[in-house]
Amino acid sequence: MNSKEFKKYGREIIDFIADYLENTEQYPVKTMMKPGDIKSKIKSEAPEIGEPFSKILEDFNEVILPGLTHWQSPNFFAYFSSNNSYESILGELLASGLGVNAFSWETSPSATELEEMMMLWLRNAVNLSDDFTGVIQDTASVSTLCSILTAREKRFRDFPSLRRSDIAKFRVYCSEEAHSSIERAVIISGIGRDNCIKISLNADFSMDSSALEVQILEDIRAGLIPLCVVSAVGTTGSLAIDPVEEIGVLASKYQIWHHVDAAYSGNAFILDEYKHLAEAVSCADTIVFNPHKWIFINFDFSAYFVKDTEALISTFEIIPEYLKTTQGNTVNNYRDWGVQLGRRFRALKAWFVLRGMGLEQIRRKLRHHIYLAGILHELIQSEPDFEIIAPLSFNLVCFRYKPSNIYEVNAVNQLNINLLNKLNDSGKIYLTKTKLQGKITLRMVTGTVRVDERNVLSAWELIRDTARNIPR
Ligand code: PLP
Repeated sequence: MNSKEFKKYGREIIDFIADYLENTEQYPVKTMMKPGDIKSKIKSEAPEIGEPFSKILEDFNEVILPGLTHWQSPNFFAYFSSNNSYESILGELLASGLGVNAFSWETSPSATELEEMMMLWLRNAVNLSDDFTGVIQDTASVSTLCSILTAREKRFRDFPSLRRSDIAKFRVYCSEEAHSSIERAVIISGIGRDNCIKISLNADFSMDSSALEVQILEDIRAGLIPLCVVSAVGTTGSLAIDPVEEIGVLASKYQIWHHVDAAYSGNAFILDEYKHLAEAVSCADTIVFNPHKWIFINFDFSAYFVKDTEALISTFEIIPEYLKTTQGNTVNNYRDWGVQLGRRFRALKAWFVLRGMGLEQIRRKLRHHIYLAGILHELIQSEPDFEIIAPLSFNLVCFRYKPSNIYEVNAVNQLNINLLNKLNDSGKIYLTKTKLQGKITLRMVTGTVRVDERNVLSAWELIRDTARNIPR
């Protein structure tokens, strides 16, 4: 492709994206494709001779588009949203055009210094205390891994009498509702899955902090080493909020590293209504939230904040000759702030979004999403044969269909699985599920950029009507 063609097709693609985003409702939200359908339409070898780009775009429309699940559709209520915005798409495009690799200050000072400033903007926007310093990671999973690795290495540094084999005694605590990325980080860090201890829950699905203390004491008595506790501010299942301050008190009492996983809900700290949560997490050593979920900076962009940057850097820093620069450690070299060496210029899209949308517009959208969840919650609550399963939290409603004449737990669970499949197969909406206290629970997140009241109302109508007609 030459520059002239690049301009031509670039304009076509921008036009396509703009039309696509305005018209996502015309597609089935969840693709109707079966496993293997897409692969069967793609040649098994790369072409020896380059093909015309117009043909590739044609195939995109025919082969790829039908196999997409449309995350930006206003009828997408599944998982947590993975939002984009026009500002962010342009930032991503520009970063791709610049092709900068931002692993050290010298490899592009603008990328490093803009990242410093964007993390400062975000920290202040979400009301985190000023002893936190931020760095962009790709995902919350990797941020949590960085935190647990830092806790591990700091423990070995602080207690020189420990041997590496003592790693088998390290214990990491999280609640039974914590995200699977915590357990995965414990596995990857070599601490071992058996040392990831799931603490029981309060009635609202948050961690029971007294059960945590009982477990810590039991472990100490058994000669084990409590290393780290992960609090969830917004669990994946129901956005339950662990008692972070109580957990923080235990963490300092027993000298345990404290990480907060606020992957989704941390974005809402941007609202004054949730400022108390931002204040509560100030007791933690590290915190992560994902602006790619709910602050319209598109995937991937995870905001990881640490208090002890020295502990983070000394966990990862390796400086072979080929990476030495004249600035040395007088500047931030982000290659040593996480797992990967090469890093994309992600700060650019954050700059575009935060300046283009402004905090006021972002706040307005989040409040609207929370308002929509409130409407849905009320509708479900007032409908016979439906049950709210968890307290309404932010913009997630957890519910199930429970006809009064069906009592048996498995039968009700199966009914809800059938209902979910039928809804998702309709292509009209997309929801996901979880299990809370043994009950299959439908989760509905009202959090995409273009979702409005009419989408929520027609989704609810569809859910109610489909439930009434589901075979028992
Ligand atoms: N933590 C929580 C509470 C989540 O809900 C999720 C994903 O939804 C994650 C971690 C993992 O996020 P990521 O995909 O950025 O690794």
